[in-house]
Amino acid sequence: MRQFYCPYCSPRYQFHKLRSDGVLICGQCGDPLVQKTLIKPTQVFALIAVTAFIAPFILMVVGSLQNLNKSRPPSINGSMTMITKIRRLSN
Ligand SMILES: [Zn+2]
Repeated sequence: MRQFYCPYCSPRYQFHKLRSDGVLICGQCGDPLVQKTLIKPTQVFALIAVTAFIAPFILMVVGSLQNLNKSRPPSINGSMTMITKIRRLSN
C-alpha cells in the first residue's frame, strides 16, 4: 500500500484531501503529497554503522566458540610428574 505524507506539515495533524483533478493534497497547506520511500538513505547509513559496531563482538563470540571445541594441549601437571619420577630414579 502506498503511503503519502506532506513534508511541510507535522505528521500528527495531517489530513489528506483529494483534489478535483485526482491528486492527493495536504488538507492544511494544500501542497501535493509526497510518496514515502520504503528505505531511506539515513536508514541504510545507520544499518552500516550498527554493523560496524556489532561485527567485532560477533566475531569474538564465534572465535571463542571455536576455541571451546578444540582439544586442549596435554596438561602440564602430567609432564611435571614425569620429570620428578625421572629425577627420583636417577638419584
Ligand atoms: Zn501540508
